[in-house]
Amino acid sequence: MMFGGNSRYATQYFYSLYSDLPQPLRQAVLEPAIRILPEVGLVGKARRYMAHASMPMPARYDHYNLLQRLGPETVFTGEFLAGVSPAAPAAQVEQAYRASNADSLINRMLALDFKYTLADNDLPKVVRSSELAGVDVRFPLLHDEVVAFSARLAPGLKLRGPRLRYFFKKALRDFLPPEIIAKTKHGFGLPFGRWLHSHEPLRRLAFESLSDLKKRDIVRGEFIDQLTGAHVIQKERLETIEGVVPRPTDLPPGCHFAPRCQHRMPRCTTEEIPLYQLEGSVEVRCVLYDLAAAVAADHEGAALP
Ligand code: SF4
Repeated sequence: MMFGGNSRYATQYFYSLYSDLPQPLRQAVLEPAIRILPEVGLVGKARRYMAHASMPMPARYDHYNLLQRLGPETVFTGEFLAGVSPAAPAAQVEQAYRASNADSLINRMLALDFKYTLADNDLPKVVRSSELAGVDVRFPLLHDEVVAFSARLAPGLKLRGPRLRYFFKKALRDFLPPEIIAKTKHGFGLPFGRWLHSHEPLRRLAFESLSDLKKRDIVRGEFIDQLTGAHVIQKERLETIEGVVPRPTDLPPGCHFAPRCQHRMPRCTTEEIPLYQLEGSVEVRCVLYDLAAAVAADHEGAALP
């Protein structure tokens, strides 16, 4: 992370190519032009790219946050939400982003990652799990001098266009073997989602813990049921689906499958369901995939600096 090594930095660079265009060009020319074309194939992809790129930072950077994507009212009980300020986390992220005092996109993202990804997430997870395993862990790349050096490095030496860790790779070119320099980054996340499928005691522990969580009246019981349901339908194949197939001339709002779906949630019939691009040309449009993908990303996507 310190030297610009996370793939999300390159992703945001690609979005910035569009968001940095003059606003009149985007809003008066490009967006109306693409809206008149049917949302299929490349045009569909271009529309989704433009819609995503048009989100302001740091909201765009935080877009894949599970709570943002599902909405707090989907996850938490009304009673809990009445006692907190649901908008406060986004306001804090915004404040940290602005307070970074950095001009470049990469340094602003790094400021957020220091505070949230490292301090609140990666380091507590690694330190605590290492402690539980009796392993002493150290972070040489987070030594004060290394951090200070990284902070002084010109933004273009961290992220050069979409090229990650530009300086780091150049500096160590004659020191590390070429295959190490060329290798893509590996996260350190646990494949928890896969273990849930293959290890019954772990699944029981997780599901029982989630069941206990219901009693605390913080997370909605229906949401927990959806969460475990999303896991179960990944594992089991649906044999038959009851119900009446809607007429093409009278399709229900939101997900067209909603009237027949046993996993239907309120948002299935009130929102446009996002389209997810899987490997190859496979696409899926279902909030359960949204949920399962977000949970899997949360479990498996952790990456250390
Ligand atoms: S979006 Fe998914 S969960 Fe919701 S109704 Fe459609 S198929 Fe069911």
